[in-house]
Order: sequence, then C-alpha cells, then structure tokens
Amino acid sequence: MKVTRIACSTRLNPGKYAALLEQARRLGRVRSEVWQRYGSINGVGSGLRDRQVRDWWLVDGTHQRFGVLANAWKETVRDAIADMTANMAAAKVDVRRAIVRRTDDPAERKRMLTALKSDRWAGDPFLARQMRKHWKRGKNRTHDQIVVRADQHHTFADGRGRLWLAVPGLERRRMVRIPLSTTVAPTGTLRLILRGGRVEVHYQIDASQLRSSQRPCGGRMIGVDKGYTEALTDSEGEQHGVRLGKLLAAESDRVKERNRRRAKLRSVANNAARRGDHAKAHRITVDNLGSVKRNRRAARHRAQVRTEIFTAVHRVVDKAATVVAEDLTKTFTGRKTLGRNVNRRLAAWTKGVTAEALTNVSERRGSVLVHVNAAYTSQACHRCGSLGRRSGDRLHCTSCGVVWQADVNAAINILQRAGDPDIALHTPHHTVKQILQDRTDRHRTRLPVQDSSPTNLGRRAKHPNRSTTNH
Ligand SMILES: [Zn+2]
Repeated sequence: MKVTRIACSTRLNPGKYAALLEQARRLGRVRSEVWQRYGSINGVGSGLRDRQVRDWWLVDGTHQRFGVLANAWKETVRDAIADMTANMAAAKVDVRRAIVRRTDDPAERKRMLTALKSDRWAGDPFLARQMRKHWKRGKNRTHDQIVVRADQHHTFADGRGRLWLAVPGLERRRMVRIPLSTTVAPTGTLRLILRGGRVEVHYQIDASQLRSSQRPCGGRMIGVDKGYTEALTDSEGEQHGVRLGKLLAAESDRVKERNRRRAKLRSVANNAARRGDHAKAHRITVDNLGSVKRNRRAARHRAQVRTEIFTAVHRVVDKAATVVAEDLTKTFTGRKTLGRNVNRRLAAWTKGVTAEALTNVSERRGSVLVHVNAAYTSQACHRCGSLGRRSGDRLHCTSCGVVWQADVNAAINILQRAGDPDIALHTPHHTVKQILQDRTDRHRTRLPVQDSSPTNLGRRAKHPNRSTTNH
C-alpha cells in the first residue's frame, strides 16, 4: 500500500517560481484538452488508454500547440486520463448498486456487472441510462500542477547540507533547482503543486517503510462512531481525537470572519473603482485580498485536522483486531451541493478524512475494517432497540428508563450491527426502522415489565451517563 508524503520548498526565487507557474499553466491546457476530447463515452467510457492518446497526438501534431517538453505533456496526459477514470469509477459504484436493486437473477446481474467493468455499458440501455445519471461529466480545474516522471528529476545537497530538487523546465536540459525544507529526498513520480509562492512536492512511498506500520494492531473487536467534537468514540466508552471539535470550530469562525472582512474590502475596492480611483482599488486587491496567506493558513489547518484524525484511528487500532464502522464514503456529497456553508463543507471534508484514515491505518497495521449499516444507530437504545430521545450528548431510552452517553451508545450499536442477522449493509433505512420496531414489540410482549433494579441494568449497561442514570 502507498501513502502520500509532501515536501515543501523554502524561499524560492520569484523568477523560478514564475517559470514553474508558466509551465503548470501550459500543462493545464493539456489537461483541459484531454478532458474535453476524451472525457465522455467515446473516450474513457470505452476504455481509452493514455498511450493511444499520445500516439494520436504525435501523429496529428496536437502536442506542438502547448509549448512544453515531450515528457511533461505525456505525463500530464497520463495523469488526466487517470483522473477521468477515477471520476468514472466513482459513478460505477452507484451503478453497481442500481444493478443489484434491479434484478435478482444471478446470470443477468453478472452480465451487467461484467459489461460495466469492461466498459461495454454504452450498448445496454439500462446501463447507459444509469451511467448518464451518475457520471457527471467533469472538466479540468487543475492549472497549478506539474507531474514529473521518476527518471526526470534528481536531488542533491549543497555545502550547508540543504537539499535541492532539480526538475525539467520549459527548455531542454535547463533544470529548475528548488530548495527543499526537508532532508528526505522525494522519490518516484512527483506531483509539484504551486501554491502561494511555494512548491509542494507530493510523492508516494510504500507504507511498509513507515514506523507506524510496524506497530501491531490489538486483539479485540471494536465499534466506532464518528463525531464532530471528537473524531471517534469507541464501543468501550473511550473518545479519541478530542481536539477535533475545537480545531473545526476555530477554523469555521476564522473563515466566516475573514469572509466578512473580505466582502467589506471588496466593496470598498469596487466603489473606489467606480469613482475612478483605480490605484486605490488595485492596492486593496493586491494588499488585502490576496490568497497567499489564506492558502497557507488553510493548508496548516488541514494538516492539523488530518493528524488529529489519524492519531485517533491509530489509538483505536492499538486495541482492535477488527474495527466496525459506518461506511463514511457512501453518503459523501459532491462539492456543488454544499455551496458556501462553511460548517457543512468542513464536516463533509472531515468525514472523508476519517474514511481515508480508517482504511489506510487498518490496512497498514493489519486490522480488519468492517463496514455496517448505521441507520438509527444514533437513536436506538443498544440494549432494547427502541428509539430513544436524544438531547445533547445524551440518549434517553424511555422503555429501559436509562440515559446513555449518546456517542458510546451509537458505537455499541455499530459494533452489534456487525453480527446482526437481519440488518445488512444495504438494507434500506425504512426497513431497518421496521426491524427495530418489530424487535421492541417482541421484547415487550415476551418480557415482564422492566424495572430499574441494579440486576436489570445488568451486564451491558456499562456506560450510562452517571449523573443522570436514574431519571
Ligand atoms: Zn432501552
């Protein structure tokens, strides 16, 4: 398994940065061309390979329009095709679900799944319709990246022990030398991302080289619930990543305040421009409305949140051989529907990071990740199954008469879903509710009236919220 590492440039001289930026801009046009020409059914939809595109372009001379070196545009074509394929693969996940819903016939299912997988779906009316529905044709938005093939770059140390990375520029045999803030040389294919006067060098290393991958996992089976104040709560009552809420709240406040300030400044600049005071308008735009500081701040915040979440997952895996969790990638919403709402954007993003951390850490440390259906896990009482009343971080079960800590209760429910004979991963929401209700009814008719004597509070009641247990 691969993990991404990022090295950053230190003070880079503006001339070099401008040259790299120009190269990235030209390569952005290469990307746009690839998306435009091959981003549909006739392109990646029919299993197109980057090698074919390269051969066509070499024949018809398309590549000469961009003014970049051969290796640069070829790597960019490969990268863009990979992006488009990933975009299509995401749609195929939804279409696979639609196939399962459509037919019970195993032969028919298999036929459709095979056609989908081998990109022969365009000929089947149902598959074509489903793909059109789920596969949003995208366009290129990347104009600040340069992909450098493994054999096209090298690193060297200067007299003061500082590490430099040399990458191809726009002219043959004229390398651009970038000073790095790290002592570890990036290896393999590099992705240079140009942001705010700095170069981020993204590269992948084998996860087995990481120290954290050598740490063994635990031996138990543990359910986890994803939270907003803390990254995870586990079924044993422990919370992990408790700083997450503070980090997100602070960022959200800061972004909102900054947006307010910027909106005000922008209107001042617009007014100045209307009056004809273009010097002032320009000054405000350049001095106060730039993106350099904003982007740096955002990058730092992203790094802090990732660390908090990954550390939380490592803590869980310290104890667990099997981690049971909701499939957090499933309900992931695209960026469009989220609009400008800061909190929702942050929440959706942290959800994605948590999903990534669970998969990544489990795989590296050898624990098993089990995805379960999480419908009603935050509302149902884990002991009797009836739907309780939630208030703040408490869940009050009226039929047991117990108040649970809501997140711990949810984590226990999630753990129990792993062995649930009736509720499978894709059981619809309303069916889950019906199953839970049937169970509570059975529970009620079979058992005598519950009281709250200590024996009845019993074995599983390990985590009642102490201050309010006997309400
Ligand atoms: Zn209950």
